[in-house]
Formats: sequence, structure tokens, C-alpha cells
Amino acid sequence: MPKTIALIAHDHKKEEIVKWVKQHHEKLKTYNLCGTGTTAKLIQKETGLNVFTYLSGPLGGDQQIGAAVAEGKIDIVIFLCDPLQAQPHDPDVKALLRIAVVYNIPIATNQATADLLI
Ligand code: PGA
Repeated sequence: MPKTIALIAHDHKKEEIVKWVKQHHEKLKTYNLCGTGTTAKLIQKETGLNVFTYLSGPLGGDQQIGAAVAEGKIDIVIFLCDPLQAQPHDPDVKALLRIAVVYNIPIATNQATADLLI
């Protein structure tokens, strides 16, 4: 059963995540992919990979992914977050980071860590 990877990027990091997914396309196509609304749709459009789409992050997508982590449905989270911009859904972002720690799920919050994970 292939592992499931969640892909999330804040707005200023969306270009970076698309580039990263393109770079690792051959490997990533062997996994189940999912992501927050805007990120998932953009990756699908730009790479042709199938990405299960949750709600947009600010509308509850991060919470949905957190719930999926808690239910054992997600194995790895790639979350390119923007450290230079205030996020309206910051509590949800923190909750996702926390739940990943609780369930001991690898979570990469920058590209260097994502590279190491993949
Ligand atoms: P988005 O959400 O992919 O819907 O933009 C990402 C986020 O900001 O958490």
C-alpha cells in the first residue's frame, strides 16, 4: 500500500512547492498525494499528478489534514510555510504541527527538509 503524502504551501511558497514536486515527479507519482485546496489544485494543473483536494487552508484544510493524520491516513506532511507573513489561520497551522508531533509523523516545513525526507 503506497504511503500518503500531504502537500501544503502558503501563498508565497506555492511556486516553490510546484517546482519541488516537478523535481521529484518520478518518485512522487508512486505515492498517494493530497493537499490543501489551492495548493493541491495548482500542483495537479502544473504537474498532471493526481492530488486529493481538501478545503483551502484558511477555510479548514489544515484542520482536515490534521484530522487525517490523527486517523492514521497520512504518513508524511510537506508544509512549505511562509515565516515572513502573518497567516489568518495561524492557530490551524500550529495545530497541524502539533498533531504531527503527537503522532510522530515526519513534517517538513522547508525545502531542505523536504529534500531529505524524499
Ligand atoms: P491553500 O492553503 O493551499 O488552500 O492555499 C494552504 C494554507 O495556507 O494552509
